[in-house]
Amino acid sequence: MHRPRPHPAPPKAEKPAAPETVQPVSPPAAEPVALKPFSVRVPLTVKELAEKLNISPSELIKRLIGMKIMATINQLLTEEPVRGLVKLYGFEFQALPTLEEEIEAVHEIEDPAQLKPRPPVVTLMGHVDHGKTSLLDAIRKSKVAEGEAGGITQHIGAYRVSLPKGSITFLDTPGHEAFTAMRARGARVTDIVILVVAADDGVMPQTIEAIDHAKAAEATIVVAMNKIDKPQANPDRLKKQLAELNLMPEDWGGKTIVAPVSAKTGEGIDHLLEMVLLEASLLELKADPAKPARGIVLEAQLSKGGGPTAHVLVQKGTLRVGDVLVSGPYWGRVRAMLDERASRLQEASPSTPLEILGLNGVPKAGDSFLVVGDEKKAREVVTRRQEETRSGQVTLTGRHAVSLEDFHKLLAEGKLKSLNLILKADVQGSAEALQDALSKISSDEVSFKVLHSGVGDVTEPDVLLAEASAAVVIGFHVGMTPEAEILAKQEKVDVRLYRIIYEAIADIRAALEGLLAPKLVESSLGKAKVLQVFKVSKSGTIAGCQVLKGKILRGALARVFRGPDQLFEGKISSLKRFKEDVREVAEGFQCGISVSGWSEFQPEDLIEVIEVESVAQKL
Ligand code: GDP
Repeated sequence: MHRPRPHPAPPKAEKPAAPETVQPVSPPAAEPVALKPFSVRVPLTVKELAEKLNISPSELIKRLIGMKIMATINQLLTEEPVRGLVKLYGFEFQALPTLEEEIEAVHEIEDPAQLKPRPPVVTLMGHVDHGKTSLLDAIRKSKVAEGEAGGITQHIGAYRVSLPKGSITFLDTPGHEAFTAMRARGARVTDIVILVVAADDGVMPQTIEAIDHAKAAEATIVVAMNKIDKPQANPDRLKKQLAELNLMPEDWGGKTIVAPVSAKTGEGIDHLLEMVLLEASLLELKADPAKPARGIVLEAQLSKGGGPTAHVLVQKGTLRVGDVLVSGPYWGRVRAMLDERASRLQEASPSTPLEILGLNGVPKAGDSFLVVGDEKKAREVVTRRQEETRSGQVTLTGRHAVSLEDFHKLLAEGKLKSLNLILKADVQGSAEALQDALSKISSDEVSFKVLHSGVGDVTEPDVLLAEASAAVVIGFHVGMTPEAEILAKQEKVDVRLYRIIYEAIADIRAALEGLLAPKLVESSLGKAKVLQVFKVSKSGTIAGCQVLKGKILRGALARVFRGPDQLFEGKISSLKRFKEDVREVAEGFQCGISVSGWSEFQPEDLIEVIEVESVAQKL
């Protein structure tokens, strides 16, 4: 049986066909019939979709082949092909909440009556050589090894100490870089920061940096005034310096606990730990141990045997051997759990650090882990995450860097409340001058916050802090270290270096006022003249054209002109050379153009193709 070809070919010859062969242009097509909504959760398998559409899986597989997708019956289909497939059956795709969103929602629900206190998680920070490592070691030796044969045999990135009044979990990667790197990956791990300051040395640049990093993370600070065994120790001078940094010591009427210790002699360590527990009790740290676990990966690697091992911290719920979890783009069933003494655990409650075996890959430090119901769910969540990462929709942490240009947009969308800044200058004087000048910018609705201000080049920790706190880095008369440059590029952190204070101020003011929002700039990509028109039942109208100038691009914005009048604006939905679908057609050639939503072409109409670019504004 002869059936009409569904898609008449666009003009074949380079020469326009004779006018009598032009088919009459039919009246404008009726409004397309509204598609029925089809709500489904993606990804789903070919089989599941076929069932929902009430067709056979083999029919669906054939359709997929038509879409150049080779799929098996159990293959998971992502949003894009599902959208196209259901349309073929007269439906409009509507995404239901993803499985991950559903699981997250279950994890989010907390019954206040079920919440139980959990140990605080503590990180040590401070200037180099002020004694962070020594103090961590001293605490470990004095507390963990007590009464236990062997003590800690394993490095799992953290350890717990038990005291009569409660336990504390210490993360044993000291320093604010590691801390902020975690935060930059979206992980809020630390409850309390022990700021280690040597009593003989006092506050140093990295002490200030550490304070700013801890404050930006809204962690409670307890000061360990270390090296009090040294004759040069000067507690009063240190307290005065702390008071100047808004850490007013308790015994001076403030709120900050300053505990004198010596990592060398062990003096004061018990008192320090008691103070940490005291602060923790004020924070009322709680979690429901009856829930499925979630937490953070502290570090992960391949073991000698080749299997991935992950050092994790349980933050909520209880993790058990046999649980199925997802972490980053990986999943697995927990085969074994080991604590810091390499003892096997059957279960781990909130704030417990441990090593787990059973994941099918090595997640990154700072990735979260989440217990999901079963393997099928785990596979589905992971497939979707991988898909989203591939398509560049989101990073796995779902974070977005902020720039001066997009600040106002994020503000308008309610994603940011204030413009966070990190200031670096060549000398203390210019850092202060910059801050002074900034404080004179007044804006009624919008404010800015200086998270950290320091002297010297923009460094990696600055960029990390900016990334973790959605901040912009402003450098004045300074450069940038190569590591910082690489990181900023990679994480799309906006770092701006200025030589003139006024320019920095002007840009920040403009950002606050929304004047720096990127401008959309149009340019003409090409022009084509309609030579003849083909009316096609299904896909609308194809205009057989000659490209007069530039090029025509599929998917680009097109404007249809008749004489001086613009008739329509829409996307180029299909572009053909002879019968072939093509991406672009250059000047001098002929092609068939369809514009989505427009079917009333006439010969001699002009089609102009426009490119819209977003361009950062300069002041
Ligand atoms: P970090 O860079 O902050 O980790 O500092 P370290 O823990 O490596 O300590 C730096 C130096 O200070 C080492 O030589 C330690 O032995 C010494 N130190 C640390 N704590 C004390 C202390 O309480 N008293 C004395 N006298 N020396 C200490």
